[in-house]
Amino acid sequence: MKTGYLIDMDGVIYRENQLIPGAADFIQALVASGTPFLFLTNNSAPTPEDLAVRLKHLGIPGISARHFYTSALNTAEFLCETDPACTVFVLGEGGILTALHERKIANDAIHPSYVVVGEGATTMEKLTKAHECIERGARLLATNPDNWCPVSSEKTRPGAGSTAAFLEASTGRRAYYLGKPNGYMFHRARRKLAEIALIALENVIMIGDTMETDIRGAFEAGLQSFLVLSGSTQLESVGDYVYQPTRIIQTVADLTEEITTGKPSDRMNSPAFGHEVLPGNKRGMRHQTDIFALHKPRPRPAMTK
Ligand SMILES: [Mg+2]
Repeated sequence: MKTGYLIDMDGVIYRENQLIPGAADFIQALVASGTPFLFLTNNSAPTPEDLAVRLKHLGIPGISARHFYTSALNTAEFLCETDPACTVFVLGEGGILTALHERKIANDAIHPSYVVVGEGATTMEKLTKAHECIERGARLLATNPDNWCPVSSEKTRPGAGSTAAFLEASTGRRAYYLGKPNGYMFHRARRKLAEIALIALENVIMIGDTMETDIRGAFEAGLQSFLVLSGSTQLESVGDYVYQPTRIIQTVADLTEEITTGKPSDRMNSPAFGHEVLPGNKRGMRHQTDIFALHKPRPRPAMTK
């Protein structure tokens, strides 16, 4: 059975500008075995070329730009498909600006069809301009819903979701959020993965570290999902969610051998199952609602890439 992988980056391949141990060998095994894969990130600030250079500097050379699918590319594809003659006023950085330019979506600071909010620094002057455009009828679109993104283990930065929330509050209009977990992101990523594979894929697996984006989006798109515990999710909190990953592993290094040999392991042999009982497997916990989860004291959800 031909399997392809959609792979989140932060918390899966690297963390705090450091490669997760075994991640380079995992990617090498994918390349050597001819297994199709695509990196899937909600960060709309970098271009695919920027991300390829970043991986190279981290110790994973030889990955080309076509192996990345960002929320910026997803947003540009969305506009190109649904409203190709539209114009946009953009709050964002190189990734979203380049993606829109490549799709021939014109910038317009006077009467744009959309205000597009991406990741990155902005100014009160630009927010005011965006606010005025929305008041004049522009629709509000965000590249991704992340309110904040990790910078280090002790530091975060505001994400596109919080910038869009500012404009939602000031204009009273709701934004439409692309990127994970939006099904359009997964639908398009799956299509791009099939193009890379050159043959029909019978099995597509999302590997990610965040329940709210990676695992939820994969579940809703009908894909298998592997949760890694090398990023934002602790094993103990998995049972707080209605949707569950297909499989839980410590890091992507746990997959290297089976990709090399072509023999999938028994999922119950995964290191994560060395613990007594996964909270999510306790009877009665697996189908709890999000509302129930909100009653439990827990840190704010990790809406990371
Ligand atoms: Mg992540």
